Amino acid sequence: MNDVPAPPPTLRLTVDGQALAANWRALDALSGSAGAGAAVKADAYGLGVDNCVPVLRDAGCKAFFVAHWSEVAAVARHVPAAQIAVLHGPLSEADCAYARASGAVPVINSLEQAALWTQSGGGTCHLMIDTGINRLGIALSEVADPRIAALDIDILMSHLASADEKTAMNRMQAELLGEVAETIPHRRLSLANSAGIALGPDFAFDVTRPGLALYGGIPREELAEHIRPVVRVEAQLLQCRQLAPGEGVGYNATFIAPAHMRVGTVSIGYADGFLRSRGPGGALHQAGRALPILGKVSMDMVVVDLVAAPDLRAGDWLEVPWNIVDAAQQNVLSQYELLTIIGGRLRRG
Ligand SMILES: *Cc1c(COP(=O)(O)O)cnc(C)c1O
Repeated sequence: MNDVPAPPPTLRLTVDGQALAANWRALDALSGSAGAGAAVKADAYGLGVDNCVPVLRDAGCKAFFVAHWSEVAAVARHVPAAQIAVLHGPLSEADCAYARASGAVPVINSLEQAALWTQSGGGTCHLMIDTGINRLGIALSEVADPRIAALDIDILMSHLASADEKTAMNRMQAELLGEVAETIPHRRLSLANSAGIALGPDFAFDVTRPGLALYGGIPREELAEHIRPVVRVEAQLLQCRQLAPGEGVGYNATFIAPAHMRVGTVSIGYADGFLRSRGPGGALHQAGRALPILGKVSMDMVVVDLVAAPDLRAGDWLEVPWNIVDAAQQNVLSQYELLTIIGGRLRRG
């Protein structure tokens, strides 16, 4: 097109790499003799693989978990593909061929996947055992199947259904994994996600798989003192305008100016993960001042009240609250949702 580089975007996500590395180290330490891996699916929970995987790698992480085969390439730009596990496993010959070509390791979740992997040539894989979540994984009744015996299993794993709760199911799942481990040859065992790490050493086995807590989420109170916030979101004021009494703001004019007032249009909207539910009652911030949101959040913009900040001009940066723990406590969205909805324009900013 031309040689002029694209100008910087009018919104930005800052991933605090030191906090991310510190969170991984804390979770690795809490995993005791086990090593912590990292769940980096969904573009590292919305924070961007390119922002997060190099930091995790440099902190010492050697096991990365994605959900889809389509997520392998981005992660493999930063770490050896043999360290990448694909949680959904292979559904076709094409998936198996891609696994071999890329070097990423499939997680086998069913007898069908086991047979497919073996028929396509076999090789190192991981195996998911379902110990009660009923999502992915072979059933306990299937562990003695010859299709499982034919596998060359590195990590034998299961996934906790309610690790963020105090429930007897957690221990039951750990015990079931321990029992299965005695009958299926494997090199390493893995059970705990972020919340599972907080359950203690009986849940850590050899490899833990934190996701949420790496990125600043706190699924269990025990983790609060160990986990630092990682995400900061800011957006620029695109325009400031003066409203006369009775004028409406945004789609459907759900805010009507009660008096003369100055407002500002900000470059963030629901396409960036700033959902409409953030609208009334919410605020952006600048230098400690709250700037209430007026009217509906649009796809790319939101309007804020600038009465408290008459000095602000187009181009100034505003803080967009992304305190995932607080927001989840207000029951807006789960901490997971608040991270993974972060839009592509922010991640690539
Ligand atoms: C996403 C995922 C994790 C990470 O869970 P968090 O609750 O985010 O720590 C671990 N294991 C599996 C199988 C997953 O799908």
